[in-house]
Amino acid sequence: MQNLGNSTVPSLLSDASKRLEQALKHVTISEDAIARLQHPKTSLSVSIPVRMDDGRLKVFSGYRVRYDDTRGAGKGGVRYHPNVSLDEVQSLAFWMTFKCALLDLPFGGAKGGITVNPKELSKAELERLSRGYIDAIADAIGVDTDILAPDVYTNATIMGWMMDQYSTIQRQLCRGVVTGKPLSLGGSNGRDTATAMGAFIVIQTMLPKFQLNPQETTVAIQGFGNAGSALAGFLAEAGYKIVAVSDSKGGIYAPQGLDIASVREHKNQSREMKAVYCQGSVCSIVEHQVISNQELLALDVDVLIPAALENQITANNADDIKAKYIFEVANGPISSDADKILGKKGIYVFPDILVNAGGVTVSYFEWVQNRSGWYWTLEEVNQRLKAKMEAEAENTWTIAKDLIIDARTAAYVNALNRLGTALDAKGTRNYFVKTDK
Ligand code: GLU
Repeated sequence: MQNLGNSTVPSLLSDASKRLEQALKHVTISEDAIARLQHPKTSLSVSIPVRMDDGRLKVFSGYRVRYDDTRGAGKGGVRYHPNVSLDEVQSLAFWMTFKCALLDLPFGGAKGGITVNPKELSKAELERLSRGYIDAIADAIGVDTDILAPDVYTNATIMGWMMDQYSTIQRQLCRGVVTGKPLSLGGSNGRDTATAMGAFIVIQTMLPKFQLNPQETTVAIQGFGNAGSALAGFLAEAGYKIVAVSDSKGGIYAPQGLDIASVREHKNQSREMKAVYCQGSVCSIVEHQVISNQELLALDVDVLIPAALENQITANNADDIKAKYIFEVANGPISSDADKILGKKGIYVFPDILVNAGGVTVSYFEWVQNRSGWYWTLEEVNQRLKAKMEAEAENTWTIAKDLIIDARTAAYVNALNRLGTALDAKGTRNYFVKTDK
């Protein structure tokens, strides 16, 4: 077995790369390619001074990591969160590298972030921070070098500011340097719901293989941000019984099923997660239990969807999980040691790099539209998204069946084969291989 062990890599990234070790047992890939994939290509740490509304100057820490760009320009979102660190951004960039390869997008992997609680900033402060971040990393990004997108607590408005700032620096309109922009600034139809739609397509592709139909399937969703909330909407419309949802403050559980349209409407209006049933603008509370995020993860449901942050299911709570199927909508919600415990319990885990890849897939479509100047309808976007997601979900499943491995390892095998081929095509190893001649 080829070993990726590297004691100098930080903890989260080191845990992320454990998944590679599993996959390496099943692929033929050169030592050069493995060596290359152990390290991020570039890691940039910046300080961003921001004039606050009260006149003070506050300095924020920001990062942009390009993990690998062998298959194309770096690609990945920018996260605003108080826990953002270089280690986290490197791990997220690592995952993006494999996600883009798995979906066969002509991109490498990258990620960015700022250590900040955006809820504590005014809109004007947030704009100055976002523009300041671009000023700080402008030399490291570009339409053909590294392309940004939304992630946790960033959105289309912020992407618009970033694209505008980069274009101002370059003295020309550079729409393709950022995806997930507002439609009026060159965004794509369907990008706002793409992560949720992609996850929905994967769920709809996988569950019939286990003879599960929506009406008999109970679902719990941890995280009610852009992805979790829209996915709850798609699943409810398709007839799934969503019994529990949560946000960062906690969750609600109703064994009879929640009226997701009402819960979403109430959350949009009041920012509060409540078990409600709304008729017109009048909402009334329905019978439910208030639960913690930990309790939600341990519910006895068919399908569990972690759609919040990384490391939610670890060796500490993996034994409590009762769901039969887990679809990872967040990046890295399950630690590698928890994977083993879930595997022993016979729980099927469908991995982040497949399940949440709808976002970056429609980002790719947006980049293509920006570069060609030819814009697609929502139907065209969703049709192309469905074709890509279904194809790679089926590919991953076929690899899992053929090699008798779990879906996560199969996804990494699929991605590694593409990455290895590209890395080797660029390499000079053959000059040094001794032949008989
Ligand atoms: N932040 C999203 C992800 O983790 C989207 C990235 C992108 O669109 O580039 O996949």
